[in-house]
Amino acid sequence: MIPVFRPQLPKAAELLPYLKRIDEARWYSNFGPLHGEFRTRIARHYGLGDDQVVLVSNATVGIALALQAVALKRSAHQCICPSWTFAATPHAIALAGQSPVFADVDAATWTLDADQLAEQDIREASGVVMVSPFGAPIDMTKWERFAERNGIPVVCDAAASFDAIGREEFRIGTIPIVISLHATKPLAAAEGCIILCTDPDIIERIRQISNFGFSTTSVAQVLGTNAKLNEYNCAVGLASLDAWPETREKLTAMREYYWERLDEIPGLKVFGRGRSYVSNYMIIETETDGYQLSNHLAQRGIETRRWWRSGCHQHPAFTSFNVKPLPQTRRLGVHTLGLPFYSDLAKTDIDKIVDAVDEFCRPRAA
Ligand SMILES: *Cc1c(COP(=O)(O)O)cnc(C)c1O
Repeated sequence: MIPVFRPQLPKAAELLPYLKRIDEARWYSNFGPLHGEFRTRIARHYGLGDDQVVLVSNATVGIALALQAVALKRSAHQCICPSWTFAATPHAIALAGQSPVFADVDAATWTLDADQLAEQDIREASGVVMVSPFGAPIDMTKWERFAERNGIPVVCDAAASFDAIGREEFRIGTIPIVISLHATKPLAAAEGCIILCTDPDIIERIRQISNFGFSTTSVAQVLGTNAKLNEYNCAVGLASLDAWPETREKLTAMREYYWERLDEIPGLKVFGRGRSYVSNYMIIETETDGYQLSNHLAQRGIETRRWWRSGCHQHPAFTSFNVKPLPQTRRLGVHTLGLPFYSDLAKTDIDKIVDAVDEFCRPRAA
């Protein structure tokens, strides 16, 4: 079976120098030396200052903390998010004490469109969590204008977008951008999260909330929790960052080969085709039924995944929340499918996958 994804984190030998530093320092969490170094290197990677970056334990908690830090509109408790996302997004909204309201995404970008949200929904919302779909860039200037015009804060769930941020229109500004370091994401620390924001006050507030509400002393200034990133996860993150140029090159080359081969298939679109960012997904959009294609591929030893299923509003945990009309979400749920994609996927396996997709799609193409 060709798996849909095979995580690969730094090997023991690559971690060892960092682990030895932990042994020597005897500092295991609470903003230790590796945490400091990781934060500085991430800040430099994005051309930011250290005070514009905060690291926390995972992106689900990261989104919740960012929501708590951005001054949600107090007169409301409904927070708009797309249904077309991973379950973590609405979970994070609920963790922050808000109720998610599921809105539809744009047909082409697969993300919320600020111009398509209904006036009344915006008026009744405490905030918005918009989502970068499968690591794609987001037009942040447009969202900053939206936040300003409507006086409601916005948080960006950019869990899979380590590489896209800073590219194309994905500018870093006053909207907190939350990146996951989970083992399945492009830059991995096994578990972890980076939050970027040009406003140091928002970053400082998130840091306080992540550390029991403490500021400089152990007096709780605000309500908080424990969401610190420990030294061991920082070691993995640093070793992943060391390997990033090589990882990115591998993903780029593999993606190009995949794209060229998939171009041969009639009636097929590839999400992100020709764009400048790399991600850890290969998502196709077919005119045919994705479930049937998935079964066809499974019979040929190829695992696929409907990463976001039919949208979050369908999960039992979220059915009590408000749902707007979702025609695009429904369409994406039926017609999109995640193919195997990971850094050491062999070209011969890509050939096998593309041939099997072609075999299914070609006879059915209009
Ligand atoms: C992976 C993912 C998350 C959750 O990230 P964790 O670090 O695992 O909590 C949130 N949102 C989206 C869109 C994701 O893909």
